[in-house]
Amino acid sequence: MPDTMTPQQRHYCMSRIRSKDTTPEKRVRRWLWRHGYRYRLNVKGVPGKPDIVMRKYRTAIFVNGCFWHGHGVQLGIGNEKSGISAGDSACCKIPKTNSEFWVAKIRRNQERDRKNYEILSENGWQVIVVWECQLKPKTLEQTMLQVEIQLHNFYLKTFNRRSKSYIRIEEENLPMVAEDPEEYGIDL
Ligand SMILES: [Zn+2]
Repeated sequence: MPDTMTPQQRHYCMSRIRSKDTTPEKRVRRWLWRHGYRYRLNVKGVPGKPDIVMRKYRTAIFVNGCFWHGHGVQLGIGNEKSGISAGDSACCKIPKTNSEFWVAKIRRNQERDRKNYEILSENGWQVIVVWECQLKPKTLEQTMLQVEIQLHNFYLKTFNRRSKSYIRIEEENLPMVAEDPEEYGIDL
């Protein structure tokens, strides 16, 4: 990898190496946990290895870094060869140096993301993408309230669809009981 990262990008890379639990993921987990939601981390065999899997809501949550996943960037319309990266966004600035490399890389990530989301959707899962920039202290609460609404809407929709027997309780709908917050990947 060429050494053309900004200090912020390098810091982000280093933090990914140190720990899987980046701060944005932890913020989401902590909010969910404190509001009584239970979930699984790093579930094997789920496409795209979602950061958080909520089986009761049949929902996979991805907490995406704005740079690596190209938040708000329309790379598809860029001219890769000329080094012009079409449509930088406020939270994803393509480095001017070696921009061809970064455009290709971020575009690959975006394509992989899209495929994973498609596979999940086709299998009846809801995909929620939460972006790093939406998890700053000022916006965290609003972002998570929106996530909560999506969880409940989807739950009601799928519940109604399969609700010939309203009283059937599926094993997967039982709350998962584990009192140790560490199992949920958070420090309280
Ligand atoms: Zn962003």
